[in-house]
Amino acid sequence: MGRKKTNTVYRYFELHEDGTSTCTMPECGKTFKTHHGANLLKHLKRIHEEEYTKVVDLNRSQEENTAIELQNCTNSEIVLRECTNLVVVHGRPFSLMNDTAFQNLISLIPNSEATVNAQAIKDNVKLTASNIRDELVNALQARST
Ligand SMILES: [Zn+2]
Repeated sequence: MGRKKTNTVYRYFELHEDGTSTCTMPECGKTFKTHHGANLLKHLKRIHEEEYTKVVDLNRSQEENTAIELQNCTNSEIVLRECTNLVVVHGRPFSLMNDTAFQNLISLIPNSEATVNAQAIKDNVKLTASNIRDELVNALQARST
């Protein structure tokens, strides 16, 4: 979950800070005034057909992996995540989680053992925040070394 998706087209281009990119295929080295994946892909399609096929296949299998990852989430995990989103993303009050009507709705979701109440969701918010903080710390440390 949460793995960053990268367009494989960038394997064949060097991206420069001034916004241009260079094709790294031997004997090409053509420069473009863009980093835009779709534009660079057009170049592969026109000039480097074999690499174009590889990129399209790889991007497609990345999308399939993401879909499978989502399928592998249990209903309990999805219920917990969506209830957390209700509070964090959509700004609903924690007290909604203790609402009887809301609890009745949640109980209709099959195969979910998630405990949904204000405290459980608060705990999950804390856990999620601390995971994000750890990820950021790790990313920053990786940069500075
Ligand atoms: Zn090229």
